[in-house]
Amino acid sequence: MAIQSIRLFGDPVLRTPAEPVKDFDKELRKLVKDLTDTMMDAPGAGLAAPQIGVGLRVFTYYVDEQLGHLINPDLDLSEDKDEEGEEGCLSFPGLSFPTPRAIRAVATGLNMHGEPVTLEGTDLMARCFQHETDHLDGVLFIDRMDLKQRKLAMKEIREAEWSGLSAPAFKFSPHATHGKAL
Ligand SMILES: [Zn+2]
Repeated sequence: MAIQSIRLFGDPVLRTPAEPVKDFDKELRKLVKDLTDTMMDAPGAGLAAPQIGVGLRVFTYYVDEQLGHLINPDLDLSEDKDEEGEEGCLSFPGLSFPTPRAIRAVATGLNMHGEPVTLEGTDLMARCFQHETDHLDGVLFIDRMDLKQRKLAMKEIREAEWSGLSAPAFKFSPHATHGKAL
C-alpha cells in the first residue's frame, strides 16, 4: 500500500492543467497503484493524479464495483444531462452538491501499458469520468455549477473545518464523504 495525502481545495496543484503521459514505465505503474490505494483508502469513487500532487493525465475510478484507471483521457458526452445529481470531491472533504453532468460518457485513452482503452459509462460512472477528466484540466466541480449553486457551495466550503488548510498532511474522516466523493 502506498497511500498518499490528498490535496485540498486551495492547493494550486488542483488548478494546474496536467501534462499528457509520454512514458509508460515503472514510475507510471507506481502512480496508478498509489492513486488506486489512496482512492480505496479514502474511500472515493475516483481520484485524479493532481489530487495527490502529480501533474500527469491519469485517473482511477471505483464505481459499481468496477475498478480501473485511464491515461490521457478524451471524452465524448451525451446531450442529455442530469442536473440534480449530488457530487462530492475528495479535495472538498465532507461536502456534496447538485452538479450538472452529461448522463452518458464514452471515455477513450490508454491503460498503464500504453494500450488503447474505450470505457462507456452512464450515471455515476459517466459523472466520475467527467469529474476526473476535469481535474486533469484544472477544473473543479464548483466550476460546473450554476451561479446560484456555486455561491451556496462556496459558503459551505468557507465554513468547512478544513477550509484554508491546504497542507498535504491534513487527515479527515473516511466517513465524511459518504463514499460518493470523486
Ligand atoms: Zn474531485
